[in-house]
Amino acid sequence: MGQVKSVEFKMKEFEYFKPFHITNSISYGSQNIEVIVELDNGIIGYGEASPSFRVNGEKVAAVMGLENAVNEMIVGMDVRNYRQIFDITDKLFGAPSIKAAVQYATLDAFSEETGVPVYQILGGAKTKIETDQTMSIGTIEERISEAKSIVGKGHNIIKIKIGENLEEDIKSMIAIHEATKGCKYIVDANMGYTPKQAVRFVTEVYRAGVDISVFEQPVGMYDIEGLKYVRWNSPFPVAADESAKTKYDVMRLIKEEAVDYINIKLMKSGISDALAIVEMVKAANLKLMIGCMGESSLGINQSVQFALGTGAFDFHDLDSSLMLKEQVFRGKYKVDVPYYYV
Ligand SMILES: [Mg+2]
Repeated sequence: MGQVKSVEFKMKEFEYFKPFHITNSISYGSQNIEVIVELDNGIIGYGEASPSFRVNGEKVAAVMGLENAVNEMIVGMDVRNYRQIFDITDKLFGAPSIKAAVQYATLDAFSEETGVPVYQILGGAKTKIETDQTMSIGTIEERISEAKSIVGKGHNIIKIKIGENLEEDIKSMIAIHEATKGCKYIVDANMGYTPKQAVRFVTEVYRAGVDISVFEQPVGMYDIEGLKYVRWNSPFPVAADESAKTKYDVMRLIKEEAVDYINIKLMKSGISDALAIVEMVKAANLKLMIGCMGESSLGINQSVQFALGTGAFDFHDLDSSLMLKEQVFRGKYKVDVPYYYV
């Protein structure tokens, strides 16, 4: 039998090795919620929520308060019929990180019961992926030195945060490119620009000979017209991140022809919407990357298994676990920077 006996939430705190600075936000650590799904046969599945107030409007205390409601929703249900559990937990749309963690813990318990790893339950498309590493906003000198240190760790793909100062961002981007030739760049403005500033940024760096693989969320999350303007005036592919949370958001972005890429994060969509988004984006002939919030290795495991299982992503931005101090590694995957594999 694989029936859910109980669901437990445990708060966990993690500290970053160094403060993480993005547009209008500096983080020193991450407060996550470990979700433990126990079955009536003693098998346990684990998930992790990394709530984001900035993106999802989630506060940790409020999300912790859903423990009883989640028990009422899924106790007695069989994890082998996981689609039934996905359908009922889709009602947790106000707390998507918890939806993700509960849905993943369900798959993890199913995996433990059957001996089939989650990445194979989800399709087994790949056995190895490459992650980027992200660098904070800083002075030009700080940014060059951080970019070099990321390359020094073995990464080939650097994610560069911009969005607070257009002129400095342009100079920094050109300088980082000079210092790390041969690397690929994902550039993320986290909604910091107006559409015209965003077009100015890509035009200037393009003229300076810089190639950008993906330009993420240049404008505000509700500015779909703005995203579209940037997409059709940029030499580089444009991605929606904050604008693309649910499958309904992505349906609209596709209809509006607003972006080239969708950045899926399980913490925004849960497993259920993420699976739907993968198929919608493939059918629309657009591209996918996968990102993270502040997950530890327990939570990054969820995205690694999802990415390996679906094989759907051109870029993997799954680096929070590399940036957090953690006592014990809890992923069911192996790490050989910049690669994650099974
Ligand atoms: Mg982003």
